Amino acid sequence: MKAVIEKCQECGKREELHWIPEVNEALVKYQLCFKCNFWREKVLIKDEPRVARIDGRHYQVGQEHAPGYGGFRGFGGTGFTIVFDDGRKVKTTNLWHQGTIPKHFKERLPDNAHFEYGEKKGGSIYDRQKDSNTGTQ
Ligand SMILES: [Zn+2]
Repeated sequence: MKAVIEKCQECGKREELHWIPEVNEALVKYQLCFKCNFWREKVLIKDEPRVARIDGRHYQVGQEHAPGYGGFRGFGGTGFTIVFDDGRKVKTTNLWHQGTIPKHFKERLPDNAHFEYGEKKGGSIYDRQKDSNTGTQ
């Protein structure tokens, strides 16, 4: 097996194969660097209901009552409400962030959701400013 990918098919980067055998084999098979292979795998699961793409970032909703995880939860158990473009509203305290989707994967991994909390917060700040203006007159 070659110990290096001379040119990643996605980004052109040279990649040394110093990963675990399963990963090395996948990189050789697809001629990708580690990072692009990571995002290739995200394309494969892009329509799974637990996958949320918000503002170009990739998230996965973990199980709410996952046994055997030793209490580790995404974002330290912070609660989020995700509104998917298909109309589903998902509340989670186990959200995991995989990173910002690279430019060359954005077309294959377009946004499919938004956070409900963020929108409400924006509205309330505006309302509070209006209230404080009228309050000081
Ligand atoms: Zn690459």
